[in-house]
Amino acid sequence: MKILVLNCGSSSLKYQLIDMDGENVLAKGLCERIGIEGSNLAHSPAGGAKHTVVSPMEDHSDAIRLVMDALTDPERGVIASTGEIDAIGHRVVHGGEAFAGSVAITDEVIKAIEDVSGLAPLHNPPNLTGIAACKAVMPNVPQAAVFDTAFHQSLPEKAYLYAIPYELYEKYKIRRYGFHGTSHRYVSERAAAMLGKDAKDLKIITCHLGNGGSVAAVDGGRSVDTSMGFTPLEGLAMGTRSGDIDAAVIPYIMDKEGVSAGGAVSILNKKSGVLGLSGVSSDFRDIESAADGGNARARAALDVFLYRVAKYVGAYAAAMNGVDAVVFTAGLGENSAQTRKAVCSYLGFLGLTVDDERNAQRGGEFVFSTDGSKVAALTIPTNEEIVIARDTAELFA
Ligand code: ADP
Repeated sequence: MKILVLNCGSSSLKYQLIDMDGENVLAKGLCERIGIEGSNLAHSPAGGAKHTVVSPMEDHSDAIRLVMDALTDPERGVIASTGEIDAIGHRVVHGGEAFAGSVAITDEVIKAIEDVSGLAPLHNPPNLTGIAACKAVMPNVPQAAVFDTAFHQSLPEKAYLYAIPYELYEKYKIRRYGFHGTSHRYVSERAAAMLGKDAKDLKIITCHLGNGGSVAAVDGGRSVDTSMGFTPLEGLAMGTRSGDIDAAVIPYIMDKEGVSAGGAVSILNKKSGVLGLSGVSSDFRDIESAADGGNARARAALDVFLYRVAKYVGAYAAAMNGVDAVVFTAGLGENSAQTRKAVCSYLGFLGLTVDDERNAQRGGEFVFSTDGSKVAALTIPTNEEIVIARDTAELFA
């Protein structure tokens, strides 16, 4: 079975074609600047060189058609015809309370995704555009939706309710949802497999640390808490996002800076985090090198970031009344030994000890705690695409 995995943004489309027989990625690529001048597609067949096609793409349907051309190209293609694609799996950011798992896309499902689009106005509309484009270009290929929020639908009420008037939850569904669910699910399952245990018997804390970041508490294979909330703004300090903040700061910024509510939230989403604190960059590599070079604000930004990751890990150890493993994933979690070491330096009280030599490894999955550590520490590259492909394959098997 061959599954096309799609992640559609407002002007971009990422894809992977995966052969489920052996779970091999046959090709992957990215369309950028859809609907903008200079649109292009970068296509990488497995084992082959990356090839860039510069071609106008007015909308996502044009992009899908170009992807199909690239996949079936006589020279760089990996399939003879689009008829070989058995199903399409879409990453959809927000499923609200309607979806606790992946689903086959029907008209009712599209309606339900539209109904919660107000909760993710930047993400759900382009996801829906991608679904409509596939329907237009490949009407007979079944499609599935895999939600970023679904894994966290198991949060208990005490973790998802905000302490605000209950009517606001009832009327507007204002509650914590959590994001990066597909990643937290994948790495927690991999951690259990690497430790040779059943996920049901483990308490795992997963740290997804990229430009956006979140921590999740996974007890017995189910997410019981996570740091992102109503939107992906809550929780950790991120590349450009403030994370947790006293809500009273928002009207204060509006008043002092003369901006609207949207303007104030935009400052918190786009100009804050390590970028806002350091004034250097939103890219953690730049921040690390500036801090190493003596830039005090970059050092402060990193300290705020690391401290908050550690605080969440500590909080989730309490939430689960214990922890067996702490997992690091995404850009920083997978690549920055310095970040892993710095976060773990707060966790000695849990009996977690780091083996520096193991932590210095690059690439792939590894345990980097010492043999005697009471809590295992692991690095696991995330793979949201394979989860989307597996769920899609299962729905249409
Ligand atoms: P997202 O998917 O949220 O855009 P990624 O998971 O790709 O983000 O993570 C990107 C972040 O990871 C960037 O800020 C980048 O600087 C950081 N990163 C990648 N490699 C390293 C590294 N070796 N050391 C420190 N930071 C790194």
